[in-house]
Amino acid sequence: MNLANWLAAGARLRPSAPALLTGTRIDADYATFAARAASFAGTLARDYGIAPGDRVALFAHNCTAYLEALYGIWWAGAVAIPINAKLHGKEAAWICSNAQAKLALICDDTADTFNEASCDLPRAMATLAIDSDGYDRARSGEGAKVPVARENNDLAWLFYTSGTTGRPKGVMLSHGNLVAMSLCYLADVDAVTPDDAALYAAPISHGAGLYNMIHVRFGARHVVPQSGGFDPDEVLDLGKQLGNVAMFAAPTMVKRLVEAAKRRGENGEGLRTIVYGGGPMYLADIREALSVMGQRFVQIYGQGESPMTITSLKRERHADTSHPRYLDRLASVGTAQSVVSVRITGADGKELPAGETGEIEVKGATVMLGYWDNPAANAETLNDGWLRTGDVGRLDDDGFLTLSDRSKDVIISGGTNIYPREVEEALLTHPAVREVSAIGVADPEWGENVVACVVLAEGAAADDAALDAHCQSVIARFKRPKRYVYLDALPKNNYGKVLKTELRKMVK
Ligand code: ATP
Repeated sequence: MNLANWLAAGARLRPSAPALLTGTRIDADYATFAARAASFAGTLARDYGIAPGDRVALFAHNCTAYLEALYGIWWAGAVAIPINAKLHGKEAAWICSNAQAKLALICDDTADTFNEASCDLPRAMATLAIDSDGYDRARSGEGAKVPVARENNDLAWLFYTSGTTGRPKGVMLSHGNLVAMSLCYLADVDAVTPDDAALYAAPISHGAGLYNMIHVRFGARHVVPQSGGFDPDEVLDLGKQLGNVAMFAAPTMVKRLVEAAKRRGENGEGLRTIVYGGGPMYLADIREALSVMGQRFVQIYGQGESPMTITSLKRERHADTSHPRYLDRLASVGTAQSVVSVRITGADGKELPAGETGEIEVKGATVMLGYWDNPAANAETLNDGWLRTGDVGRLDDDGFLTLSDRSKDVIISGGTNIYPREVEEALLTHPAVREVSAIGVADPEWGENVVACVVLAEGAAADDAALDAHCQSVIARFKRPKRYVYLDALPKNNYGKVLKTELRKMVK
């Protein structure tokens, strides 16, 4: 199995169907997409000596050439290492060095810092620009007619974690992992048709690039916004222009999309499916999203180590308002996806019964092969095929999983566990609060105290007393923040995730 076979199949099925678009402009049909991937594979082998199993980094912004290069890497049997283009060249160079990559594909924006940093690498590193003439030359040559044969367990994607809990680790994902993930998309997330438009509003280097392989198999459209990234107004426009759009959005992106739709008096016409996840979606936010944009949402819970695939909360669960447990389910991340089992374990590693809170573990066809060159992390994380997610949660009798927090973020005050998410959910129901993140700060008496870092809504006013009174009306007294810190914005990583480590440093 080689993922590039899906591109070959898409090209056989619908050679003249539009494959790659920038906004509404068609850059390539399926026959051209496949021919360019094949010739790029030829260039990798001929000019750069890339053999099957070699690692090739992609340090570039979203563009359609990125997708051609990605499938070209697989066509050659090589391994892709997508690196977020917003990282510093030094961080990208560290990843390349850790993965012993042979070649880095760069773009105009990343070239300078990368070239500067890569001088310090122990081994010289070849680079090729993929959004300029260099790439045009590379894709004009001959390539093998069919992709290099690969086995299920052969490495396809080396995905470096974003490092919110430490130094990035290289997650080894095989062709088989990614096929299983893609089939779960069909089974547990959304139907796919050849008329679909998969919209890359999030970085291809993260979930978005992984998540639309099934659309290649169906010969559907792949659309990179003209802006290259996420602009809510552009996304709303593209929905109407393209129709049948399916996209992945982090919760912060959903929030901005909903604000834009509300401002424009629209409901997201043409955006058929918005898959959200990758960070907590608060109940108040998803209820607002549903009321403004209607039934377009599917939630997924996953992590790089089991990409996009642990649980999902289906579209119909978002609509099931008459169900007695509707709100509990809406606050959950849904049920286990088709190819995995999920369990909760206690501190002794034993499985806990439904209703009890502990660490979430997952086992199945999407779970990574392991971390690249990191036996210590493998021993800590993988046990008899079960992956320890580092997330805390509980399952109910019907198999719905509710996340509490990442285990490293749990606040222990006076010997009692306080889950920041509960405090955040409570404060977000106050109309003056736009965003909030709760953290634990060392305290000589209690061990840790809850501190709430609050971003107020534009033009809104609230003080400690008002927020405290609100908390007292919705959560237990011992969970109330002992202190409030008001900020203009929360520190976030490139994927919009709050960096609690940074926040703790700032508050200290
Ligand atoms: P690192 O592993 O380096 O700390 P990271 O936390 O950003 O980086 P990712 O794989 O990008 O790692 O993110 C996975 C984590 O995101 C999950 O373990 C979970 O904590 C959180 N997450 C993912 N989906 C959801 C969701 N639907 N709701 C709440 N949290 C989620």
